[in-house]
Formats: sequence, structure tokens, C-alpha cells
Amino acid sequence: MRTLPVAFAAYKWAPSTEELARRVGLDAFDIVRFDGNVPGWPAPSARPATVAAALARVNEYAHGGYPQLLRAIADYAGVEPENIVLGAGADDLILLCARAFAGPGDQVAIANEPTYPLFAIAVALAGAEVGTDDPVVTFCCRPNNPTGALDPLPAARPLIVDEAYWEYAGETAAGLIDDGVVVLRTFSKAFALAGARVGYALADVDTATELNRRQAPLAVSTTSAALALAGLADLPDVTDQVEERERMARALGALGLEPLPSRTNFLFVPLDEPESVGEALLRRGLVVRVFPDGIRFNVRDGEDDDLLLEGLAHVLDRPAPVAPAGTRRTRVLRATAETRIRVRLSLDGASRVRISTGEGLYDHLLEQLAFHAGFDLVLEAVGDLETGPHHTVEDAALALGEALDRALGDRRGIARYGDAVVPMDDALARASIDLGGRSWADVRLECEPGLAQHALQSLAQAGRLALHVESTGSDEHHVAEAAFKAVGRALRTAVHAESSGIPSTKGVL
Ligand code: PMP
Repeated sequence: MRTLPVAFAAYKWAPSTEELARRVGLDAFDIVRFDGNVPGWPAPSARPATVAAALARVNEYAHGGYPQLLRAIADYAGVEPENIVLGAGADDLILLCARAFAGPGDQVAIANEPTYPLFAIAVALAGAEVGTDDPVVTFCCRPNNPTGALDPLPAARPLIVDEAYWEYAGETAAGLIDDGVVVLRTFSKAFALAGARVGYALADVDTATELNRRQAPLAVSTTSAALALAGLADLPDVTDQVEERERMARALGALGLEPLPSRTNFLFVPLDEPESVGEALLRRGLVVRVFPDGIRFNVRDGEDDDLLLEGLAHVLDRPAPVAPAGTRRTRVLRATAETRIRVRLSLDGASRVRISTGEGLYDHLLEQLAFHAGFDLVLEAVGDLETGPHHTVEDAALALGEALDRALGDRRGIARYGDAVVPMDDALARASIDLGGRSWADVRLECEPGLAQHALQSLAQAGRLALHVESTGSDEHHVAEAAFKAVGRALRTAVHAESSGIPSTKGVL
């Protein structure tokens, strides 16, 4: 049998979340990844319903390719469909360009080292060499990974410009495709579809035609194409990510660090001992990318990024620039065919609450509950609201209950019981809670706007708590709101940490 001649120096992937969790003795839920340069959460358009039609025909090839997707990309990029080459991520197109433009004996230039390591791997796979001696083609990453810099565009032609992060910088070389430039882009970053593996190249028609001839047939799957198409119909807005990056940069400055100026969704921080800092952060569940001269991490959102700032301050033994998040916290990701819910809960919070389910009334009710419980809570849901609010509201309450159960751990030291009476104009609500670990719900709302009672029952079920609620009044909104506030106040008392023992004569909960 013929064997491959040498051990190839392949692209190095970071370990899986489960493996990292095992390595540091944490639950996979408690690992927060900052190392993939991707958003912290999928886009609302990435839901089961988006791929349902593709799944119904998943036995078939996409005969004729993806004309609809090509049209949508063309409109987004300001080109024609004939200028586009689809690939399984920008990575696939980097490999395609290297093998199409270069071969054995050729030199290929790579601008701005350090840069994305796959360029050199693609050159080697094409049988060519990295070098500047009359190169047949030049690769350039703009903005650059890992520095984040928007370096000047090289004058060399042909030029492959990797614009994986272009949305964050707003500058593109797409206008130069008729001048020997090929632009590579991806749905992995701003569109938050890294797992779907969809990218595209923009080139003049002749080059695009030749690249397409050399591409694997239908490199993009029908389900991934559906996700990309849905993303293009609901374009991402990266303003928040860019603002968050700048907030992080300022906070890192306050920590005495000097992040490189970035035009991407990540920051590179030069450090003397990046390896040990990376290890220490990992022990806190925070995963960053370690380089020989620093660490790189993408921004996620305010709360997650504060965890990283707090972690860095601790590891570097400097005063934290943000308030500590407390230890009784957890995160839950609950995904079914109907809904996808993300919860991040801290029991010892400061009532910082952000809820978004697409059902305003229940956002408001859950916000009241968490606020009056004194929790820090982020709860984001994407559900099949076209079928009505039922699935989304129920699953949001179940996910919150699950998070509460997880954050309470073995329930050692808690007060266990709590009760509260809350009036609201015409309404009067009374709530009593036992966090003893057995689920029970007796919820009586004299009138209610729809699913309030069901939501509280779901919370009790998943949170393993006994809940008795009675709320009377004439205005259904007041009746429900007073009930949720009362449950919040009762929870605040019940979760209160007051001893080190198990609050039961049985010795277990
Ligand atoms: N180019 C650059 C510069 C990148 O940083 C990455 C991903 N880390 C990629 C390409 C890969 O993109 P894709 O997921 O589309 O393969």
C-alpha cells in the first residue's frame, strides 16, 4: 500500500469545550469561549424553521447550485452572481485559491506576518513555497488576524484578500476585482454561522469561472445555504460588537494592558507570559487564544466580557475594573425544534436584567421576577412565535428554572424558604417558596393575560421548588405582574446564603 510521505504540519484546532472542561474539572456549561473570533450567540435567523425546507429534500443534491444564494450575495457585495465562488467557509476558498494559482516550484507571498496560518498551509498543500521571489500570487488578510490591524492593501497582483472580518472594519477591496484582486469572505463572523461553513470569493468573471471549475462539486450543503440565505435577508448589525470592543480596550487599558488597535471583533493583548495567563484563565472557564507574545480574544457581550476582565485582573493580581460576578452563577443553553433559549444567571447579582424572547409581556414579567429577586439575568430566546407564544414562554420559564437549579448547586447554606406579599394598585399577590428540591406549583391568578400561570408552573417544575402563589385583582396585567414580583421577592429571601449547612433535618435536599 502506498502511504503519504511525511507527517504534514496541519492547521491546529483548539480542543472541544467538553475536553477543556474535563481538563480543568469544570462543567462544559461553565466554559466561555473567547478563542474562535465568532459572536457569542447565533443570529435570530438561524432557527430550525430556516432549515426545515432544506431538510425536507435533504436526500437530493442541490441540482443547479444555489442561484438564489448567489443573487443575494451579489446584492450584498455589490457584484454579479458570475463574480462569485461558493465554498465551505473561507478556509475552503483559501485552499482553492492556493491550488488554482500556485503549483510545485512556485513561490507565494504572504503579507503582514504574523497572519492567518492557513495561508502557509494552503501553499504547502499546493506543492508551492512561501517566498517573495517573483511570487505567482500574494495572500493578504485584511483586517489582519491575529493583530486586528487594517494594514495597507499590497500593490502585488494577483492578490487574494481574506476579508473574513471586513464587516467590522467597513473597508473592502471588492471594488478591485477587475484589477487582479480576489476577495474572500465568510458567513462565520458577522453572520454568526461558523458551524454552517459557508464562505464566498469575489473575482472577475473569468477568474471566478476558473475557480468554480476547480472547486469541489456543491461544496456548500443545502442546509448551510438556507442558513446563509436567511442571514442575508436579516443583515447583521455589528455596531454593538464594535462598541463593546472599544469598551473592552479601554477597560484593558485601565488594567495596565495595551491591546493592539483592532478593526475586527477581537483584541490582541501583548503579554510577557501568555502561556501561564491562558492556563490560569482556562482554570476559571475562560478560553482565549494563546500566542508566543500575547493572547487574543473575541468580544462576546458586556457580561461575558466582564468575566474575562475580572479573570484577567485576578490572574495578573490587579484591581478588577468591573464589579465581581459572584460565584453562584451558571449558564444554560436549551435547544429544541421549537425554541432556543440561552440563560445566564447570577444569584448574587445587582438586578442587572436583560430579557428578550420576542414576547414583550413575558419579557416584562420575567424581568420583574429577576429584578426583585436581585439576580443578574440574561435570557434570550428565539422561538417559533408564528405558532403563538406558548412554546417560547414555557421554554423560557423552564430554562430559567433549570438555571436556578444549577446555580443553587447542592443548595447548601441557603435560607430555603421565602415568602412575600406584593400589592399593585387593584392587585394583591402572595407567594411562598420552598427550595427544598421537590417540584410543586399551586398558582392561582384571579385573571391573567394568557400564560403567566403556566410560566410560573414551568419555573417551579424545572427549578425543583415548591411554589404557592395567589393573586387577586381586576386588571389581568396587574394580577400577573404582582404575582411575578412576589415570586421574585420570595426567591430573594429563599436563595439567601445564611449558613454553611444543608437547610434540612434530613441533611440532604
Ligand atoms: N480567514 C481568517 C482570517 C480567519 O480568521 C478565519 C477563521 N478563524 C477564516 C478565514 C476561516 O473562515 P471560515 O470559517 O469561513 O472558514
